[in-house]
Parts: sequence; structure tokens; C-alpha cells
Amino acid sequence: MTNLHIPHSRPWISDQDRQAVLDTLAGNMIAQGEKAKAFENAVKEYVRVEHAIAVASGSSAIVLALAALSLGARDEVVLPTYVCRSVLDAVISVGAKPVICDVDLMGVLNQKVVSNAITRRTKAIIAVHIFGRPCDIVSLRSFGVPVIEDACQAFGLDLGGRGAGTLGDIGVYSFHATKCLTTGEGGMLVCRDPELATRARALAMGAAGQGQRLFMPLSDLQAALGLSQLTRYPEFLNRRNLIRTQYLCAAQEFGLQAEEINASGGMFRFTVFVDQPFGELQNQYSSFGISIRKGVDELLHRIVGLSDDDFPCATELFRKTVSLPFYPSLTDQEVGAIRRSFDLLKNGL
Ligand SMILES: *Cc1c(COP(=O)(O)O)cnc(C)c1O
Repeated sequence: MTNLHIPHSRPWISDQDRQAVLDTLAGNMIAQGEKAKAFENAVKEYVRVEHAIAVASGSSAIVLALAALSLGARDEVVLPTYVCRSVLDAVISVGAKPVICDVDLMGVLNQKVVSNAITRRTKAIIAVHIFGRPCDIVSLRSFGVPVIEDACQAFGLDLGGRGAGTLGDIGVYSFHATKCLTTGEGGMLVCRDPELATRARALAMGAAGQGQRLFMPLSDLQAALGLSQLTRYPEFLNRRNLIRTQYLCAAQEFGLQAEEINASGGMFRFTVFVDQPFGELQNQYSSFGISIRKGVDELLHRIVGLSDDDFPCATELFRKTVSLPFYPSLTDQEVGAIRRSFDLLKNGL
């Protein structure tokens, strides 16, 4: 019926990006080196932060953050249930105890839920700007516990004049192929504290930690792509904004209220609330050649066997949230097809 195939995510790779990678290949220096350093410096300048350490992935950056804070057995880490599994795995991998919290209706942690989860053993809070929706990091820092700001879905998000990732004690980014800016696989840890940075740098380069030995380099080949993508980033953000405006318009045409959730942040994902069963909707969408996903694949509290009763907001969000293809490499034709598909989202919010 249709020749369209619109994946849920797709990177935006230009000729300039390809050339940058080819030039690096031609120079033969392709392991971690000068390009990775230059990428760190470019990110530091872009988000305005003192220290940056390029690593192999966003997940590695979280592990590194926990290790740099010297977390270990019996220490507790507070984290939201509404995020990808690798955040939970990072906590478990350093031997700490995950304390999983419900989120608010925007999908982020707030001071109230976190206050109920804090104990004397709490050694870190992982706060996530899920889908690029701002989590109030400043209020979470009031507990006097280090806050790891997971900005994997919020690179370049402006939070009152400061870049997402720079408000916590440590910030982490992911440059996975599905994220806003990509190096294929990749990530970065940022912070202001020089001692923390020195410790994190040593650990990332393979110095012995308490338990495991970490070695998580980002290669110059990857960094070359990242550097090139970063020079194009203003264009990425403009196109995301343009597409978001078009989706919001279409939502209005079909009588859906998507604004509330998607206008404030929504830079990474465009989501809608629906009452239809997800599987049904996914099939309908797929007959139009459009891939949709749930916002997150699973709730972390379910993985560790906790009851939905204690996570009412996240459970509701998880049941209703549908994420539509939303990224700058969408063509105008694809954006048009997605706009028309809003017709399917009958009961949406
Ligand atoms: C993608 C992501 C991660 C993990 O990053 P990887 O680069 O895939 O390891 C962690 N947290 C959030 C919120 C993410 O979106």
C-alpha cells in the first residue's frame, strides 16, 4: 500500500560528516588521541563546563560517574523507574543498591518522591531529562547527595541559560546512533570539580578502581564524526523545532492536546498519550510504513520485581505513552505522512 518506511530513529549523516571520518582514516591515527581530545574540548565549549571525558557510551559514562564517586557495596543510588535499563545495570555493575523511584506526570524525578527514598546510605541520585523534558536538578541537589545528571536525551537542551548536563555534580551524555548527536556509539562525562575529573579520567583510562577495571575509550574515528556533527548542531536543533511545531499544529487539527507534554522540552522525543492498546496502534502505524515505539521499553521497578502499586505515575505513563518518529533527518514528505497519521490517535492527550 505504501513505499514509505519511516524508522523510529535515524541519524543525520551529511557529506561533511563522511569526509571528516574519511580524513581521519587517511591519517591513520584512528584510536583515542587528538581527535577525541578535540571533541572533548568542543563539547566543553558548547555546553560550557570545565571538564569533559569522552567514553565509549552513555552507559559507560554512568558507570564511570558512579566509580568516580567511589560508590561500592551497601551504598544506595536513587534513580527513576521510567528510563532505559542500562541506568539500572550501571548501578548494579558497581555493586551499589538501586533505590527505584516513581516519576511525576512529565516522567521525571522530583524532590518529593526523592525525599522519601533518601537514607543515610544514599550516595548518589541519578536524575534523567527523559525525552528532553527538564528535570529540576537544582532542587534535587538540596539533599546534599551528589546528583548525576543523565542528559543522554538532552544534549544541547537549554535550562535557564545553562546546558543540560552541567547542573548536576556530574553530567553524562550518550552519542548512540539514536540520540540527538551521534558518534555511532559513544558518550561523555562532564563536571566542574577538578578532583572528580582527575579521578574519572584515570578510571576511564584503565586505572584500577575498587572492583572492576574500567577501560572505555572513544576512538578518534568516532570523535571525528562527533566533531563534524557538532558543527552542524544548530541546524539539528532548528529542524527539530520546526518538526515539533508542525506536529503540534497537526495535533491541534485532529483535536489532540499534545502541547502540555511536548512544548516545554520534548527536544528528543515527541510523545502522545493514547488509550488504545499499543500493539494495535503499532500494527496500524506499520501498515502506513511508520515505526512507533513506547517511550521506554520496560519499567525498572518491574525488572527488580517491585509492584506497580508503588509506581502509579510511571505505570500510567508507560501504559499510555507512544513515541513517534521525531528527528532532524526526517524529510518533508515523511513529516507530512506522520502528521496525517495523527488521525489514528483518537483518544490522545
Ligand atoms: C541512551 C541512554 C543511556 C545509555 O546510553 P548508551 O550510549 O546507549 O549506552 C542512558 N540513559 C538514557 C536516558 C539514555 O537515553
